[in-house]
Amino acid sequence: MSMTVKYLDLPRQFQDEELFRLIRSQFERCQFVMGPEVEEFEARFAVLCGVPHALGLNSGTDAIFLALKALGIGQGDEVITVPNSFVATAGAIVAAGAKPVFVDVAADYNMDVTLIEGAITPQTKVLLPVHLTGNPADMTVIMEIAREHKLFVIEDAAQAVTAAIDGKRVGSFGDAGAFSLHPLKNLNVSGDGGALTTGSADLCEKVRMLRNHGLKNRDEIGFFGYNSRLDTIQAIVANHVMKNVDAVTKTRQKNAAIYDEEFAGMEDHVVLPPRRADVKQVFHTYIIRAKNRPALIEHLAARGIETKVHYPMPIHLQRPCLQLGYKPGDFPECERQSAEILSLPVHQHLEEKQIHYVAKEVKGFYNG
Ligand SMILES: *Cc1c(COP(=O)(O)O)cnc(C)c1O
Repeated sequence: MSMTVKYLDLPRQFQDEELFRLIRSQFERCQFVMGPEVEEFEARFAVLCGVPHALGLNSGTDAIFLALKALGIGQGDEVITVPNSFVATAGAIVAAGAKPVFVDVAADYNMDVTLIEGAITPQTKVLLPVHLTGNPADMTVIMEIAREHKLFVIEDAAQAVTAAIDGKRVGSFGDAGAFSLHPLKNLNVSGDGGALTTGSADLCEKVRMLRNHGLKNRDEIGFFGYNSRLDTIQAIVANHVMKNVDAVTKTRQKNAAIYDEEFAGMEDHVVLPPRRADVKQVFHTYIIRAKNRPALIEHLAARGIETKVHYPMPIHLQRPCLQLGYKPGDFPECERQSAEILSLPVHQHLEEKQIHYVAKEVKGFYNG
């Protein structure tokens, strides 16, 4: 039995007549910029994340960037983050004028909190953990260290909408949370989009102005800002898909559990994603560590199964980071992981038989 298993199925998700109707009606009003749907999104996203304030932005990258700007971070400041993330995490730090300082990750792919204090210098201003794969970083320890050293915390929650520790949702721990609504994310729109969460009315107000040229009213600015607004049409899409976000998460969790069960007893070949009883993971990705990865990828591709690697090149080995003084060997755990990790399809449109098929072919590769 052979079948095709795509890594994602966006065409299927977006064949949605109700959504088309909602978008069509916007073309009668034509309030394309800062229409009322943006505010509606902000109110609902704040509730979703369990925070007092949320703002719609043009991307997850700018959510990180504007949080840094609003906190006054820039030239001469250091921001501690991880080398195992999408490049935007470090890119936003550099765009703000600050220096990304990497610490290695732990076996759970997230910031190794035992290494943070060793990386703190008098220039350190912010801890910027990433909730990679939709699994929250260890925010309890990170917040303790931040309090002790008087550092800000910005959570890169781009992959982790509604993930939680003891019921407390990501984006509600730090000074700000940065979310992406990119088509590939769990809560996705039909283009670029992002959101910032915060408990601080002050920070919210600063970012609200920064995203809209620094304007405080129609004609006057308080300071120079940017154009980082969430399009009204994408806000309409976000409001629509938000109704479904819990169902999407539940299906991804169920799919992940099927893989876990299928791979039980294969510890010699396949390392499963970490699990913690107090943590809600949302499985933006289902990442295994696999022996002999290139051959496994080929084996699966030949059987119609699409996989990805998140991410094949650690950020500290990207060209501009070599100029910052980083080199191979600096973060051995991250580098080891980058050679072994493999993301299996886990999206909400998979049928159970497809997941069993993927698992069977992975097992067949090792037992073959
Ligand atoms: C996707 C992503 C971003 C960037 O989000 P955009 O909306 O594409 O700008 C940042 N960090 C992580 C971890 C991501 O996965």
